[in-house]
Amino acid sequence: MTEPRLITVLGATGSIGKSTLDVIARHPDRYRVFALTANRSVDCLAAQCREHRPRYAVVADVAAGAALKAALGEGTTEVLTGPEALVAVASASEVHSVMAAIVGAAGLLPSLAAARAGKRVLLANKEALVMSGRLFMDAIATSGAELLPIDSEHNAVFQCLPPRTAAGLEAAGVARITLTASGGPFRNTPLADLERVTPAQAVAHPNWSMGRKISVDSATMMNKGLEFIEACWLFAARAEQVDIVIHPQSIIHSLVSYADGSTLAQLGHPDMRTPIAHALAWPARIDSGVELLDLVQVGRLEFHAPDETRFPCLALARAAWAAGGGATAVLNAANEVAVEAFLAGSLGFTGIARLVEATLDRCGHLPAAGIESVLAADAEARQRAREWLARKAA
Ligand code: NAD
Ligand code: MG
Repeated sequence: MTEPRLITVLGATGSIGKSTLDVIARHPDRYRVFALTANRSVDCLAAQCREHRPRYAVVADVAAGAALKAALGEGTTEVLTGPEALVAVASASEVHSVMAAIVGAAGLLPSLAAARAGKRVLLANKEALVMSGRLFMDAIATSGAELLPIDSEHNAVFQCLPPRTAAGLEAAGVARITLTASGGPFRNTPLADLERVTPAQAVAHPNWSMGRKISVDSATMMNKGLEFIEACWLFAARAEQVDIVIHPQSIIHSLVSYADGSTLAQLGHPDMRTPIAHALAWPARIDSGVELLDLVQVGRLEFHAPDETRFPCLALARAAWAAGGGATAVLNAANEVAVEAFLAGSLGFTGIARLVEATLDRCGHLPAAGIESVLAADAEARQRAREWLARKAA
């Protein structure tokens, strides 16, 4: 009997973090929690610590540390605070796997630290890869880390690809990767009404239950734009090798087509515990708590081409990828500012794409050669985006 693997869950209190702990709790013989982290959700993190008894609990927000210490008292779990502590628990030598499930750019440094430390990186934090794809993929290759995608589409592609694609997709006979997209809650909303949709409508995703930021990204389809960039990095794909198709039922999570005309797809209920269990146990298979699919009950699967007039964020993401350098970090930063403003009620829904486009025009040329320049592009894009918002409000 081998020792249980020690796991760090970055972003434990979020939607992916909770699903990860649900899967881990089903397999106490295989997995044990080393560290749990959150931004500042003290009550939720404290409850998770009582259940999973990690060695460390980290809150990024230093001010929340005292409240967490008070909630936990003296016990098995040591409380740490601040961004350096996130990096420390992501790269500690005892840790086997790191679930990278912090939302947004805040996840970049700890996710990258796990990659550099040679961990099995379970990557949900797609923004980290969008910001710093080359650095991230180089870190994985140099350290010998294992990168397993958690995003359901990329996890599906990973499952449908042959085991070795190091010589390139074509050499492996792969002709095309197709990412599926639900189309979100506004797939059929009249275009003229999009300006007035509310945050509550935008976060009500028809198929998936997710955090607020990714839910808004799904509604604008920026999520699929970020995922297109993510796929290009993860699978060393060229832009023309990655297709996007709307599939409203979210049952087929993505597909890989081969030179001989075969297309392989991965199917399942829209429940993130399936890709999480796949990545935790790979190449083994373990119970995730998700029911098997009943195709007769599903009945019908539909597919449509995405409408880029309705979803301009798709074209913006493709343009940022084509521009290269720091453009994708700028795209991501502008989008984070825009989504925050939309959720706060200070920017209309269609303003999200306008703000991202204006920011890309302004600073899409910035470089991204090393981590400092990636962070500088991120900071400058945020500043320009906030200035745009301030001008609009004036
Ligand atoms: P969420 O908002 O539910 O949770 C985010 C987590 O990150 C929380 O634990 C929060 O405390 C932590 N966090 C937020 N800001 C932080 C900061 N500044 N410093 C440290 N920690 C911080 O988000 P989610 O839906 O779980 O998504 C997490 C990531 O996974 C995102 O990158 C998202 O794109 C990706 N993802 C999510 C899903 C899904 O179904 N939810 C699917 C695919 C990919
Ligand atoms: Mg996805």
